[in-house]
Amino acid sequence: MTSTLPIVDHPSAAREFVTNEPRSHWHDDSLWFVRSKRDKQAQSIPEWEYLREQASTIKNHTIAKLPEYLQQFEANATRLGAVVHWAADAEEHNRIVLDLLRRNDTLRIVKSKSMLTEECGLNEYLIDNGIEVVDTDLGERIVQLRGETPSHIVLPAIHIKKEEVGDTFHKYLGTRAGESDPQVLTEAARGHLRGKFLSGEVGITGVNFAIADTGGLVVCTNEGNADLGVSLPRIHIACMGIEKLVPRFQDLSVFTRLLARSATGQPITSYTSHFHGPRDENSELHIVLVDNGRSKIRDSKTFRESLNCIRCGACMNTCPVYRRSGGHSYRATVPGPIGSVLGPAKNAKAHKSLPFACSLCGSCTDVCPVKIPLHHQLLAWRKVLVGKRLVAWNKRMAMKAASFLFCNPTLFAAAGYLGRVSLKVLPKSLTHNPFNTWAKDRDLPEPPKESFHEWYAKNRPSGSETISKEERS
Ligand code: SF4
Repeated sequence: MTSTLPIVDHPSAAREFVTNEPRSHWHDDSLWFVRSKRDKQAQSIPEWEYLREQASTIKNHTIAKLPEYLQQFEANATRLGAVVHWAADAEEHNRIVLDLLRRNDTLRIVKSKSMLTEECGLNEYLIDNGIEVVDTDLGERIVQLRGETPSHIVLPAIHIKKEEVGDTFHKYLGTRAGESDPQVLTEAARGHLRGKFLSGEVGITGVNFAIADTGGLVVCTNEGNADLGVSLPRIHIACMGIEKLVPRFQDLSVFTRLLARSATGQPITSYTSHFHGPRDENSELHIVLVDNGRSKIRDSKTFRESLNCIRCGACMNTCPVYRRSGGHSYRATVPGPIGSVLGPAKNAKAHKSLPFACSLCGSCTDVCPVKIPLHHQLLAWRKVLVGKRLVAWNKRMAMKAASFLFCNPTLFAAAGYLGRVSLKVLPKSLTHNPFNTWAKDRDLPEPPKESFHEWYAKNRPSGSETISKEERS
């Protein structure tokens, strides 16, 4: 139940990652490299901003008319021979998948990357019910072997160094001890996964886009593992959030042009696989449409746009907080700026620290291919959390005091004067002591001799007048 979720304290959860400075810097650099590749790709397309505008319009329209498009999609997918299932929440989604597997005496499934199944905790659920689950995306397989969760929605193992991958593969795949050559490790993973593909009884995939007017599905991968995973088994189960729809086939090109460029700085994903109905008359295609809180977000005027997300990960790659604190510090399936919007929508109390894990620099909003105003949404969440009294009392009091001060010019000037004088005479230990962690790596600037107001009164060009209230407005 969501109400019993543990409360995430982002600063504490980030401590281990942040205090490992070499890892934190290397993680930061790796993601900035991806962000820079994205910029090059975006700049190479003159119509980039037009595409973003189009994507935002299409998504806003689709989400507004979601019930109609879902019905249209169900009718068309059924006409093509697929079986459509509806799941209100994660529990129902997992039950549906398990029922399908049991009905077909399945003991092993191969799965391509799906953030929805991560969100629903499908792996753990199936394993608890005696099913072997093999994640076939390389990054996902690495974190699965290590007993971890993905730290990024596109680059699940971005927090792990190649030497650590070498240790993991040595332990589980029998590669040479100390091997860290990416080429050798990739070949080892490929050999290992080929065997799993051949023995998979059911293939499970996520869905990047579903098309209402055709009833088809699109899965984008760079490794071709979705195709391999569903080509041999008789049964393909595709799990998708209800927000993944686009109305028409021609809308798809807007998103495929934006997705890979935003995600990894590639012109297109290596594989863009289309599934229109089951493979042949002996095969089955099951599509599980999952709500799991999406309708609640859709009902919110402020946060509805967060459903437009196409899970490209660009907001994570650019976020200075995410890059330095690592994805696991969010304790959420979707981390980073979009995760900090979606998390509190699921459970405000459990994820109350996430909207504050943000400098409000707005870089996420600038790169988002579907133009979600992410930093505005994070600010809006802060207001909601304050209203719900979910912000620590000392922070609330401090903000109230600051607000009172900023609203009183005389008091503000007096406080400034007091601050300038006290900083000169009081001992440094008053601000720099073990109780003030903020000051640990920071120093205060030299207090100025006078306030800006006083400086301006003395230095303003002769003839210029103080700006009147009317002129200011
Ligand atoms: S919010 Fe925007 S930038 Fe972030 S993952 Fe979603 S689509 Fe990409």
